[in-house]
Amino acid sequence: MQYRNKPCFIIKKNLQKSGTTGVYFSDVITQDVLLDVCRRITGLSDYDFLFVDNDYEDEFLERSYNKGRMAIMEYKDEVSYITFSDLEIGGRNSSVQSVPTAFNMFYSNPYAKKRLYYYFLNKSGNAETDYQILIYRLMNTIGFTFLNTSPTLSTQLGAFVSIEDIIFNRRVNAGRNQSNNSTFITKSGSNEIQIYGKTYGANKYETSLICYALANLWQQGQQITLYEMLEGNLKQLPASSLSVIESMGIIDVVPTDMTLEKNIFEKTNSLRSPRYLYNLFNKLGNKQCALCKCEIPELIQGAHIWPVADIKKTVQLTQEEKLACAIDGDNGLWLCENHHKMFDEHLLTFNQNGDVLFRSDIDRRHMRFIDETTRFKTLPELILTEKFLEYLWRRNKVS
Ligand SMILES: [Zn+2]
Repeated sequence: MQYRNKPCFIIKKNLQKSGTTGVYFSDVITQDVLLDVCRRITGLSDYDFLFVDNDYEDEFLERSYNKGRMAIMEYKDEVSYITFSDLEIGGRNSSVQSVPTAFNMFYSNPYAKKRLYYYFLNKSGNAETDYQILIYRLMNTIGFTFLNTSPTLSTQLGAFVSIEDIIFNRRVNAGRNQSNNSTFITKSGSNEIQIYGKTYGANKYETSLICYALANLWQQGQQITLYEMLEGNLKQLPASSLSVIESMGIIDVVPTDMTLEKNIFEKTNSLRSPRYLYNLFNKLGNKQCALCKCEIPELIQGAHIWPVADIKKTVQLTQEEKLACAIDGDNGLWLCENHHKMFDEHLLTFNQNGDVLFRSDIDRRHMRFIDETTRFKTLPELILTEKFLEYLWRRNKVS
């Protein structure tokens, strides 16, 4: 790049829909904003600026509209990527939408002397929901510097220090607003970290960001897998995000569509079906044994109510219907390894009220241990849906 004695902003004028909305980035990024940004990064008040059209390109900007709500600032031999919040921070999307795009451009550029910033433009809206704070902390983890947290945020935004740290905070966050989740992070046995994420609409931004943060915190010996939950259109994450994930070289990406699920169903009785686990996450939230509340993710498994082996034997169902039953989130619950085994061995089951029933011939001495470890003897309401009870009826009918 050209050596500059004076800070110089180069900014794409058009946002994605400027043509129809009539809102141009040059209206949003005022001289006051540029002055403030310039002072905060360089300490200087004197700068040049240039708003450019879509067909402009240089080594930091591609030929397109302003992807990532960004300004590029060149000063001496350093380049700053600054991405801006919306004017009003409302829904979840507005806080994340442009961030992965900005990060992708920053990350993919090989120029060494580069910095990545975030600037709050909002004068209204609540930017401090649990969800937004989670997003800001993820951004911090992947290298964003917040130029003006005050007065928008009152909380100190620390980066996450480990993958466990993210899993824990995600859980705390999910507890309050579970139904809005689209991405789940968990651990299975043997140090494998799994991300289950949707890849379309607004979900793709969150999934990308979580992948970048986890890759950043990766430690020797850990294995990280992203299971992309592909819907009907089979759309994976955007190519730019996938290429960043690939060049980070940490995360295995497994596109999970129904063809893959069919193979798993036929070969392994869906025991490792990503979609089954995703559906359980969606219904029940993070892993927690329904009978002892153990939350150690490595020990918690998805337990089928109507066993897949029995589903397969049901002649009245088509292959598609069988698969649908095998991966249905209503056909299961989270159980720790101990309780899962007891359930599979028919030492315990549930009645239609969700009460735990123990097999009558269990040795008295074992019964004491089982009684003590099974702290909760009725399933929570959340689990007991109509479909769940139907699966339970089928299970109990057979055994
Ligand atoms: Zn348990």
